[in-house]
Amino acid sequence: MAKRDYYDILGVSKSASADEIKKAYRKLAIKYHPDKNPDDKAAEDKFKEAAEAYEVLSNAEKKQRYDQFGHAGAGQGGFGGGAGNMNMEDIFSQFGDIFGGGGGSPFDSFFGGGQSTRGGRRVARGSNLRIKVKLTLEEIAKGVEKKIKVNKQVVCQSCSGSGAKDKSSVSTCRTCGGSGAVRRVTNTILGQMQTTSTCPTCNGEGSEITAKCGTCHGEGLSRGEETISIQIPAGVSEGMQLSMSGKGNAAPRGGVPGDLIILIEEIEHETLKRDGFNIIYDLYISFADAALGASVEVPTIDGKAKLKIDAGTQAGKILRLKGKGIPEVNSYHRGDELIYVNIWTPKALSKEERELVEKLQASPNFKPQPGKGEKSFFERMKEYFG
Ligand SMILES: [Zn+2]
Ligand SMILES: [Zn+2]
Repeated sequence: MAKRDYYDILGVSKSASADEIKKAYRKLAIKYHPDKNPDDKAAEDKFKEAAEAYEVLSNAEKKQRYDQFGHAGAGQGGFGGGAGNMNMEDIFSQFGDIFGGGGGSPFDSFFGGGQSTRGGRRVARGSNLRIKVKLTLEEIAKGVEKKIKVNKQVVCQSCSGSGAKDKSSVSTCRTCGGSGAVRRVTNTILGQMQTTSTCPTCNGEGSEITAKCGTCHGEGLSRGEETISIQIPAGVSEGMQLSMSGKGNAAPRGGVPGDLIILIEEIEHETLKRDGFNIIYDLYISFADAALGASVEVPTIDGKAKLKIDAGTQAGKILRLKGKGIPEVNSYHRGDELIYVNIWTPKALSKEERELVEKLQASPNFKPQPGKGEKSFFERMKEYFG
């Protein structure tokens, strides 16, 4: 099933402010809240869909990627923050605060308890890993699968990431009794207040290690190599970042691995230049070919193409090969190749050549006649930039 547009889901325009996006999500989350719609699968799906849209649109970096690439940039399929894989608990713990400060919403208490729905335990998260990928213009035009060997933190083989010497050296945290959180009751003028915070002994993990793994010294991690296959969509450009969720550094003790952030670099092409989704080629033809007409070959992203030069072609003319440019990510649109016609003027002449050119110079057809059916520089630029 095709994914719906995130802006459509939240019912906001692309120019909506962060505040408008938040308000729109809040409204939907209340409407489709599971408390209000018990055992209603359709409402649950709507609730999740709205949370996924909000996860992307409320994050400046993800929103920008989504605006540029659509779901390929921010949704499922490896790229983005893995928004599509959220479960209900993630939604509550991540966006619980959206209901805060509402003053009397029946859902405040429910969302306020987001932490405890996860048992108060904090899950360790691996750090993000950044790599650069250099791509040729051809790879950018067609999209490419890159297999890249990365050096990263992996789960320690000796202890399976637990950080403990063996099974008997892991015990329930004595400070928090395994809940990962400690409650503190304080007396205030308004009466007793109960606050919950992360257990300082186990950092919220709920367990303690009595003897550390000898290989990783209790870290649960070691250095390792992994070959990662990265599917790069056609149309990416220099400086763009893609992210693959869960492909970054591993996390100890059964935690969630970080993301792999891929920074795109373009390798300059020998003859073709990129301008957005268009490709520019500087073509040089001889003065004789321009006067008599000719058939020339030009390089394109898909190999060589034949091009007809009309008799009487002026220098500066722009020829267009439709659809021979770069495709836009997540779109059927593809740019063009624009061929800028230059006329090669000889820089040295033999005595014989000089005599011939001098003869031509005197001939009336060789006198420039600007404005006679020729496009002006300004018109050509307008045509070029659309
Ligand atoms: Zn503890
Ligand atoms: Zn270990």
